[in-house]
Amino acid sequence: MARVPWILHAFSTRACGDLRSPDTPRPAGTASVRPSVLRKNRQRFLLQLGARKFDLVAVRQIHSSTVVQVIRNGTRLEYRPAGYPIAGGVSGVYADALVTDEPEVLLSVSAADCLPVLIADLRGLVVAAVHSGWRGALKRTAEKTVGDMRRIFGSKPRDLIAVLGPSIRSCCYEVGQEVADAFCGEFVRGEEFFCKSRASAEPTAPAQPGFLSRMPPGHDRLPRLGFCLDLVRAVRDQLESAGVPDRRIHVMDFCTSCRNDMFFSYRREGAAAGRAMAVIGIRS
Ligand SMILES: [Zn+2]
Repeated sequence: MARVPWILHAFSTRACGDLRSPDTPRPAGTASVRPSVLRKNRQRFLLQLGARKFDLVAVRQIHSSTVVQVIRNGTRLEYRPAGYPIAGGVSGVYADALVTDEPEVLLSVSAADCLPVLIADLRGLVVAAVHSGWRGALKRTAEKTVGDMRRIFGSKPRDLIAVLGPSIRSCCYEVGQEVADAFCGEFVRGEEFFCKSRASAEPTAPAQPGFLSRMPPGHDRLPRLGFCLDLVRAVRDQLESAGVPDRRIHVMDFCTSCRNDMFFSYRREGAAAGRAMAVIGIRS
């Protein structure tokens, strides 16, 4: 993708600072970064990218399969649901994938362990950004995004290129039996997305009452039952089923948990973890 001159894209690292939205404060009880600092972090990141002319698009991510098309209407940006019911309203747009063919619109997704996926149609001048944790992978968000690129813009899957960014990898992504079961029920090759975890031999911790183990949606501490999810494999499987050629799917070889020195990791740092950002846009 770096060799395609009309695409501007990047994955941030820890050195770029916490790039979460200044409008979504940290959960109560965690050290908070001032909104002014978050705003500055984002400005600096865009400046370093040479994206000063771009309009940054960041939606509220809810581990859904909602895809939103971003359209420029005069000086305003409009968000159109891409064929799926959309939640949200006055307080913002809720979605986990964005598509656009508008130049100088910088689509972004943020993550701290979840997998950011950037997609571009090399012939059609269309770009997409997808946020996929295990819930998004189970809901086939990446596959649906390719479907929407076909439907809205007439993109041909063989012309698509995809980059799977840094995320928690199977070495560190332990999940419960129910997650493994859900994937095996949804995907023909679901079993291939899992491996036995190193901790599977350890005795499992006694179950805690719900109020002690409550986590933000999508980040539940799952019971240790000895399965590790290969998120990259699950998302790659979807892109391949959607028709994206295998040679056009690129994977950045970083586990956010193993390389906590370079990336934010929710599993490693908990609710205090910052957020990385993946961005893609079309240069004018
Ligand atoms: Zn790891």
